[in-house]
Amino acid sequence: MRLSRYFLPVLKETPSEAQIVSHRLMLRAGMIKQASAGIYSWLPLGLKVLQNIERIVHEEQARAGHIPVLMPTLQSADLWRESGRYDDYGQEMLRMKDRHDRDMLFTPTAEELITDIFRAHVSSYKDLPLTMYQIQWKFRDEIRPRFGVMRGREFYMKDGYNFDLTKEDALHAYNRHLVSYLRTYERMGLQAIPMRADSGPIGGDDTHEFLVLADTGESEVFYDREITDLKFGDREIDYDNVEQCQAVLEEFTSRYARTDETHDEALFNQIPEDRRRVARGIEVGQIFYFGTKYSEPLGATVQGPDGKSVPVHMGSHGIGVSRLVGALIEANHDENGIIWPEGVTPFHCGIVNLKQGDDAADAACDQLYKALTAAGLEPLYDDRKERAGGKFATMDLIGLPWRITVGPRGLKNGVVELTSRRTGESEELTPEEAVRKVVEIYSPHHEHVAKHWEPMAKRSFHTWV
Ligand code: ATP
Ligand code: MG
Repeated sequence: MRLSRYFLPVLKETPSEAQIVSHRLMLRAGMIKQASAGIYSWLPLGLKVLQNIERIVHEEQARAGHIPVLMPTLQSADLWRESGRYDDYGQEMLRMKDRHDRDMLFTPTAEELITDIFRAHVSSYKDLPLTMYQIQWKFRDEIRPRFGVMRGREFYMKDGYNFDLTKEDALHAYNRHLVSYLRTYERMGLQAIPMRADSGPIGGDDTHEFLVLADTGESEVFYDREITDLKFGDREIDYDNVEQCQAVLEEFTSRYARTDETHDEALFNQIPEDRRRVARGIEVGQIFYFGTKYSEPLGATVQGPDGKSVPVHMGSHGIGVSRLVGALIEANHDENGIIWPEGVTPFHCGIVNLKQGDDAADAACDQLYKALTAAGLEPLYDDRKERAGGKFATMDLIGLPWRITVGPRGLKNGVVELTSRRTGESEELTPEEAVRKVVEIYSPHHEHVAKHWEPMAKRSFHTWV
């Protein structure tokens, strides 16, 4: 993308309504615009990050064997009356009437609707296990929407639902989700710690929340510092393997880590004092096992191997896709702006032309742009006729992890400059070396980059474009 043709409405001033850094930076970087309280339009740059997060969630769900569906945002109240939640849910549920005076609502979650789909189509244990999920807009009429997309009224969420014959099977589904969530967040460049939590209006006994540590988090959390040393890494997991999932669950949940709702001071004090931590965290996901809480009232039963009809065991699982955009910024920024992790960055590499209109500089930038594009990457080329300082400030603000700076002076010596947004370190490289290095950085994150790159790697720079 050429910046001169893009829509990137960056703000020079710090918006006064934003209380926390992620909200400020999202507004300043032209990622979102508030439409009304807790409701946002996603502008092009913000949408790209949202979609990158969404893509990672889809890929990891597929890896775990979960099946995507899409359910409507507007639902009839009837099903919610059947489950008993229409009255229970309270004022967070946005209710409305259609022209025939029928009660409707904007979905805050979708246990009822998915259970209705299940009971209409599944009647035998042979069709189990089954896990379906969607990524869809939700609405909760939060009493205090704040912090931008972190606590919106309308928000984008992955919600998944498992259906199993026995409690044991459903607990495997729970473990499988815990494992796949660990991997999902790590791919985004985030450490999200599973913590024992309280189940709230979803109900059920077993539940973990995933929290990203950040001073601006709304939850108070208590944990053993050792837990922050754990990495999921690139281990291969067979998600159908009960023991394997169980082992990972134990590794990641055996140390003390709880939100204030379930905190137990006496247990906490058993941890050596130098490892005890009290901090704040942002909830970016939650998994539940709730047994037959919905399947019983809604009649979601299957015929078991013995011919008897039994209600299925269920769980649900959520990832706050839109909240993650804010959480990622809370965890990755400095005084100049955002610092995107490579897995979610809206563009892979910035190209800054120090002297737009200079023949050599323009040609070198064009060539870099084309080479990176040919390798399957998306560069953002600042081709505006602007001062260098202004271009650098924009790049720092929007947080692309890598920047190639091109100017007539360097080109005389055959070099450009490659700069890391995170460390601020620069190195002088030939344009060819710069492209090679950027591609190598991204190949582990994007299979298609590795594929594009393979035939290019053996050839020299001038043949790439
Ligand atoms: P919270 O305690 O923050 O209100 P919740 O526990 O009610 O959230 P869940 O029902 O567990 O939320 O929803 C799954 C995920 O959706 C949460 O982990 C969170 O990341 C996200 N989420 C929930 N409410 C909001 C909101 N108002 N705005 C943005 N994301 C949200
Ligand atoms: Mg929750």
